[in-house]
Amino acid sequence: MQVHATNRLNNIAFVPSPNFDERPAGCAISLLVIHNISLPPDEFGGDGVIELFTNSLDPEAHPYYRDIHGLKVSTHFFIRRDGETIQFVPCEKRAWHAGESHWKGKSCCNDFSIGIELEGSDTAPFTDIQYMALAALSRTLQNTYPITDIVGHSDIAPGRKTDPGPCFDWKRYRAALLVRDCA
Ligand SMILES: [Zn+2]
Repeated sequence: MQVHATNRLNNIAFVPSPNFDERPAGCAISLLVIHNISLPPDEFGGDGVIELFTNSLDPEAHPYYRDIHGLKVSTHFFIRRDGETIQFVPCEKRAWHAGESHWKGKSCCNDFSIGIELEGSDTAPFTDIQYMALAALSRTLQNTYPITDIVGHSDIAPGRKTDPGPCFDWKRYRAALLVRDCA
């Protein structure tokens, strides 16, 4: 994969989210934040996540949506169960995925991070192809930006967030980051 000048990645669908703004001037992108999300909760394959990030969630479509349909949130990338990857916000822009958060003495992790949402939950194992897509995307981002740390949402918002959750296999993911793509 290569990065376009617009920082949209090849082979990744781009669905624009209105929920972004500018990063602080001179702020390097140094952190990857891994999340999980599913809408409705624990249901996979529908359009709920896309609708949430594009402010088009129907509050009548599911009881849970009434609570969240007004949220203005986004992510840079969303990796579905089948590995399909959708980008919502250009990497150079600030997506709204981390909320109140801290990492290594700095607050507001949205300023200096890229958010990657895995379609999943805290109770279901992620799929093989999600790990492959996540590792490939992560390596591309590592080659493009001065990434120094990769963390879970729960690491930067402890007590408030639990994702990517106990089913996310960090050992497997970190090992996959070290495997080079076959030419
Ligand atoms: Zn999260």
